[in-house]
Amino acid sequence: MPLPVVAIIGRPNVGKSTIVNRLAGGKDAIVHDQPGVTRDRTYRRAYWCDREFTVVDTGGLVFDDDTEFLPLIREQAMAALAEASAAIFVVDGQTGPTAGDEEIAEWLRTQKVPILLAVNKCESPDQGITQAVQFWELGLGEPYPVSGIHGNGTGELLDRLITYLPPIDEVDETEEIKVAIVGRPNVGKSSLLNAFVGESRAIVSPISGTTRDAIDTVIQHKDKQFRLIDTAGIRKKKNVEYGPEFFGINRAFKAIRRADVVLLVIDALDGVTEQDQKLAGRIEEEGRACVIVVNKWDAVEKDSYTIYDHQEDLKSRLNFIDWAEGIFVSAQTGQRVEKILDLVEVAAAEHKRRVSTAVINEVIEEALRWHSPPVSRQGKQGKLYYGTQVASEPPTIVLFVNSPERFNDNYRRYIQSQFRKQLGFKGTPLRLLWRGKK
Ligand code: GDP
Ligand code: GDP
Repeated sequence: MPLPVVAIIGRPNVGKSTIVNRLAGGKDAIVHDQPGVTRDRTYRRAYWCDREFTVVDTGGLVFDDDTEFLPLIREQAMAALAEASAAIFVVDGQTGPTAGDEEIAEWLRTQKVPILLAVNKCESPDQGITQAVQFWELGLGEPYPVSGIHGNGTGELLDRLITYLPPIDEVDETEEIKVAIVGRPNVGKSSLLNAFVGESRAIVSPISGTTRDAIDTVIQHKDKQFRLIDTAGIRKKKNVEYGPEFFGINRAFKAIRRADVVLLVIDALDGVTEQDQKLAGRIEEEGRACVIVVNKWDAVEKDSYTIYDHQEDLKSRLNFIDWAEGIFVSAQTGQRVEKILDLVEVAAAEHKRRVSTAVINEVIEEALRWHSPPVSRQGKQGKLYYGTQVASEPPTIVLFVNSPERFNDNYRRYIQSQFRKQLGFKGTPLRLLWRGKK
């Protein structure tokens, strides 16, 4: 059930993060008990009235700067806009319209997304209105005076904002699976992308910012839609010079964050490298589902042990995502390429899956019957009372226990493996949170 997305856009220092904090309240999208679940605070969950949505801070947008990151920042903003139902363009009421605002406005006017113009730093109502009227000249409709710090005006802004969100009962129907294709240079990402696009005759629509290149590519496979994220980045890389250290890892990290399912592409001729491990680590940390695609299988000299050796390589070097299915393909010949999307579909479903408390407790009872929790040296035994799934994407189960420190890693791994064995969750991370009484 993807929530509608609202993108926050504006120059640096106009108060975007202050506004995002106000919209999202203290509530973060991700459960934080586990270290490293997420470090990024740019995607936040927010509510207004009965609507829930995700707010994305796009970072400070500047056009007149010639830093090398500028294209990246701009693309990031475009990517955010491409998935957004509405955008809030934040400007600084105390400085009045600047050349930078004009440039952003000019660009925004070419976008299809509805834009709300928030004139921030308007603390006093009277002054606020005088400050706000100057921004009519940006040609983006009515300026809303607000104060991110004090909160005035934000109610009116949000009332308006939710009129742009898709109706609640439609949110489900537009469902598509967001897929990121990541991997080192030359593993065959763009070949794979082309193979997907070539196979699925119905390309629904390359989502674009109306003008420039497509950011994402949406394809249809069987009865499902797949949004291949940041395909512009995959295609374009040919013309870009990278330093030796840079293999687009930041870009890959961003794509991972936006994805439901990540295709981690590995070169069969090289096997699993350190960089592949780094990407896999990030996938697990971000709680994304994953399918490991071992590409160039056509180029591997095979005997009857080859596939077994490769599977061993995956198992040992990518053991922290041992829940992910691996598939051996050739983007060049098309061998098994279509099957990848079947695996993606399964992984996405498992990632979203919810299991009833009754079933979870059956698994726990069964597990306890085989292995009691450890007893400490002081003779105190860990007690595992019950569990319940508190979140999905990824599935997250809270286990209520007498005291978490009585459960050592071994026992935790045992419980984790029991959940896997009984409930599957193939293709997705599974988080267990151990909560003590208190
Ligand atoms: P961002 O770079 O656009 O995310 O901007 P920040 O949210 O970090 O804010 C930049 C500066 O503007 C900070 O010093 C904030 O305290 C200040 N600021 C943000 N909102 C308001 C506001 O509503 N009124 C006033 N007076 N200052 C604000
Ligand atoms: P990217 O940098 O990850 O996007 O990789 P490309 O798709 O550009 O592929 C890099 C090179 O690997 C190109 O020369 C491709 O022709 C080659 N390649 C890609 N997929 C396969 C494959 O399945 N088999 C073989 N033999 N070569 C491949």
